[in-house]
Amino acid sequence: MSADLLQALAAVLPPDGLVTDPDVLEAHRHDQAGWAMAGTPRILVRPGSTAEVQAVLRVASAHRVPVVARGAGSGLSGGANAVDGCILLSLTRMNRILELDTQSLFAVVQPGVVNGSLKAAAAERGLWYAPDPASWEFSTLGGNLATNAGGLCCVKYGVTGDSVLGLEVVLADGSVVRTGGRTVKNVAGYDLTRLFIGSEGTLGIITEATLRLRPRPPRATTLVAAFPSLVAAGAAVLDIMKDTRPSLLELMDRATVRAVEKHRPMGLDADAAVLLMARSDAGGEQGVAECARMAAACEAAGSTFVIQSSDEAEGELLMGARRFAFSALEKEGTTLLDDVCVPIARLPELLAGVERIAEARRVLIGTFGHAGDGNMHPTLVFNREDPDEVARAQAAFDDILQVVLDLGGSITGEHGVGVLKRPFLERQLGSETTKLHHTLKAAMDPLGILNPGKLL
Ligand SMILES: Cc1cc2nc3c(=O)[nH]c(=O)nc-3n(C[C@H](O)[C@H](O)[C@H](O)COP(=O)(O)OP(=O)(O)OC[C@H]3O[C@@H](n4cnc5c(N)ncnc54)[C@H](O)[C@@H]3O)c2cc1C
Repeated sequence: MSADLLQALAAVLPPDGLVTDPDVLEAHRHDQAGWAMAGTPRILVRPGSTAEVQAVLRVASAHRVPVVARGAGSGLSGGANAVDGCILLSLTRMNRILELDTQSLFAVVQPGVVNGSLKAAAAERGLWYAPDPASWEFSTLGGNLATNAGGLCCVKYGVTGDSVLGLEVVLADGSVVRTGGRTVKNVAGYDLTRLFIGSEGTLGIITEATLRLRPRPPRATTLVAAFPSLVAAGAAVLDIMKDTRPSLLELMDRATVRAVEKHRPMGLDADAAVLLMARSDAGGEQGVAECARMAAACEAAGSTFVIQSSDEAEGELLMGARRFAFSALEKEGTTLLDDVCVPIARLPELLAGVERIAEARRVLIGTFGHAGDGNMHPTLVFNREDPDEVARAQAAFDDILQVVLDLGGSITGEHGVGVLKRPFLERQLGSETTKLHHTLKAAMDPLGILNPGKLL
């Protein structure tokens, strides 16, 4: 590393804010997308304040060095992967909840706060922070914001971006902007908050966020139903979504159910084409009515069994299979977890398309995900040591994205573009919209130092 750069960074950060130990750098090179390319960083910096982030970006601009922001590194698209010669900018030291307003229902947080810590702090005051990526116990709010993370409760409460009132962001040149505010409604100026949400560290570094809190919902009732065909399950999803507001509506296909049963037998119907899991958190009579309506929708669509429980522990047990889905598939071999989204009416076609691809490419693909959002995670399982299997898995990955685009869907619903999906972005956006992305990027980051080679 150039001595000049190290000296400049040392002048603006405390000694424990600079890390050059090769082992630590190695451990921070990658996020959880094992398949995505990662470069070699020059240094890891750990600022403790917005002012220190500003100082790092001024140094990076002066030295024309790329900066890759990083939260917990739990991303699944390679977004936080190092690029060669970069400064890795870890936000984990900025981990304070600055304010929790129980009357206006918002929290002001630093980006390194773990999602679960905000949930816990809100719960202590009888409130709830809704966004719930399955990584809630370890992913940071900064990472959640920069990927616009989804989760199980999105079907009723929206994605991370739907819980954001305002942001503080440090731009590439080290200047600070504030977007949005503390109000639920706010249409003053362009919606810059939304521009930064999901921008994967390519437009600015989020250093503070004002997030919406809600009253805690009543205890939920959980329902599980098995279907003999993809079409039947798809019909149930559409019927449910027509007039109920499930707080969760998840799906697992046969390949996933079989993997779960193999590694943690739960007595699930391994012959069913699809298992659906639904929840109502409406509570009281409305909750009972909502569950009855969802059960009726499943039966009308031809489900072979439906069970439900309003006991919280039993509900969690029923949901355990869904939560274990990815881990079960991981036990079958190397996995490449995809993340795609289609209009919900096209869900059966997506699932059928994935089945066709699995057969044609001779790759095991287990599909599970958020049926109520049309957001699925087809997970390719293969042997990394076998070049032929790797090539077939990669081809299957591409095929799935093409099916998704043909169905009018999106190449990513919640994990982001990162490195993995970058070659596919223009196919979805088209040339003019891609050009506008480049224009925005050039205006906000003229030196191109913020997370280059990601997203765009
Ligand atoms: C077991 C498991 C389950 C998961 N479940 C879900 C799920 O249900 N839903 C879902 O959406 N995702 C899920 N993920 C993916 C991942 O947890 C999310 O993308 C999460 O939001 C990433 O947070 P992080 O703190 O780990 O961010 P990182 O991985 O460190 O970074 C993610 C991206 O955000 C950028 N970034 C990070 N912090 C900032 C900042 N302060 N300012 C600007 N840019 C920043 C990085 O450069 C990178 O591009 C899961 C991952 C795992 C391992």
